[in-house]
Amino acid sequence: MQYPEPIARLISSYMRLPGIGRKTAIRLAYFTVNMNKDDVKNFAQALIDVKDKLTYCSICGNLTETDPCEICKDPRRDRSKILVVEHPKDVMVMEKMKDYHGLYHVLHGVLSPMEGRGPQDLNIKSLLKRLQKNSKVNEVIIATNATPEGEATAMYLSKLIKPAGIKVTRLAHGLSAGSDIEYADEMTLYRAMKDRTQM
Ligand SMILES: [Zn+2]
Repeated sequence: MQYPEPIARLISSYMRLPGIGRKTAIRLAYFTVNMNKDDVKNFAQALIDVKDKLTYCSICGNLTETDPCEICKDPRRDRSKILVVEHPKDVMVMEKMKDYHGLYHVLHGVLSPMEGRGPQDLNIKSLLKRLQKNSKVNEVIIATNATPEGEATAMYLSKLIKPAGIKVTRLAHGLSAGSDIEYADEMTLYRAMKDRTQM
């Protein structure tokens, strides 16, 4: 006895999500069958919208509905600072802290020789272009995670940027080693920001 084809397809779709094995996928698929139709339609539409309605900001690389993004466009932002993060979700974490009013740059990953990811695979070129073009920037704050790859990426960027006479700082990691920014609470981030150190 095989699963009816629509269920089999849903199971294999759920299994493509991170952290979801076959058993969980089967449970979610049958749960979906029992959901009310409007909820399922909203769910499906939300999945389609994140692909259709979002793009990456051509300036900072953040996920956005408009290009440039709201932050890059906002005249109230402090244009003397650029905070560099690994992923778009890290921008949201920093914004929630409400204490940073500068600009961002999203790398979309970190250097990882193990996974064959080099500088050309990250959103680094456009950062250097921004720094050349925009002489207002006097500090680049590197907020990659406190993992070996995050640290190596911070070192790499600092070596590239410092010769241009721009101050490069790193978030003070009250965040314990190996921890991700996304799991830090707002107070910890606030302190990591306040106590940032020059590289
Ligand atoms: Zn932007």
